[in-house]
Amino acid sequence: MKKILVTGALGQIGSELVGKLREIYGTSHVIGTDIRELEEKEGEGPFEVVDVMDADQLFSVAKKYNVDTMMHLAALLSAKAEAFPRVAWDLNLGGLFNALEVARELELQFFTPSSIGAFGPSTPRDNTPQDTLQRPTTMYGVNKVAGELLCDYYYSRFGVDTRGVRYPGLISHVTPPGGGTTDYAVEIYYEAMINKTYTSYISEGTYMDMMYMPDALDAIIQLMEADPGKLISRNAFNITAISAAPEDFAAAIQKHIPEFTLSYNVDPIRQEIADSWPNSIDASAARDEWGFQAVYDMDTMTREMLEKVAGKLV
Ligand code: NAD
Repeated sequence: MKKILVTGALGQIGSELVGKLREIYGTSHVIGTDIRELEEKEGEGPFEVVDVMDADQLFSVAKKYNVDTMMHLAALLSAKAEAFPRVAWDLNLGGLFNALEVARELELQFFTPSSIGAFGPSTPRDNTPQDTLQRPTTMYGVNKVAGELLCDYYYSRFGVDTRGVRYPGLISHVTPPGGGTTDYAVEIYYEAMINKTYTSYISEGTYMDMMYMPDALDAIIQLMEADPGKLISRNAFNITAISAAPEDFAAAIQKHIPEFTLSYNVDPIRQEIADSWPNSIDASAARDEWGFQAVYDMDTMTREMLEKVAGKLV
């Protein structure tokens, strides 16, 4: 049975991942850590305050709980990384380096997510291949490409069992997103329920890949359980569920709230980031090497998001 330490456990992904892992591996087998203190409403189970920039602290908590796996989620997301590039460099690469060193020293299995942000304007836009040109023009993208390579290096040089996916924009109703370019795809559901209208900072016709959180969590669990002998891409599997523009979300919402309206007030910084990312990515390597297949599409995700958001607002 795995014993797992999760960094950045109070973020958009970690706050749901920890609960899901505890259902599978048992509460005492999953140690949540974050730079932030746990609030009472954020659940029970082992939790420690850990700053991933402090390598000794991360090492001693991993050793204290005798974990065999680390899922490293602490990072600064795309839009925030553009606002604070120096912090992004330090956290996204320095934190990752510290986490990989702990994995090497304690012989841990290791997961960390890359992103569709690891692609850039010269990458083929449609059906973006698994192996292709990666010349991103954002600080976040630079961090993610370097992170993919660093994880490959720890595998080939030191034999650390590193694994990862390139996440698309993730949509969830539990914890608000942490400052990414696809955050509009979460906000739109809240605004649809509250005001029946939404003003998008991303322009009409801007397609990006998206995924509902339950599929994103299943991807981590499946990849970490996959037969290592079958993994070729290892640290940066393209995965996707939906390729959509703001008007596609509006059309799906209008099936439930016909009076819903969408308007645009484009934010040039986030639009520029979105324009440098693929319209849709090819996830066949993940399907062939470890059987990944998303369950939710735009309609099933929208129905559930609207139900869950309505439940939160009463
Ligand atoms: P998030 O911003 O919601 O959460 C990050 C967490 O890290 C926060 O709880 C924060 O308190 C914590 N943190 C910040 N600095 C820290 C430090 N120094 N030490 C320890 N913890 C620290 O991020 P997320 O959306 O959960 O993303 C997790 C990972 O997934 C990141 O690598 C991100 O790049 C990647 N990713 C996310 C998405 C998405 O749409 N959410 C898409 C692609 C990739």
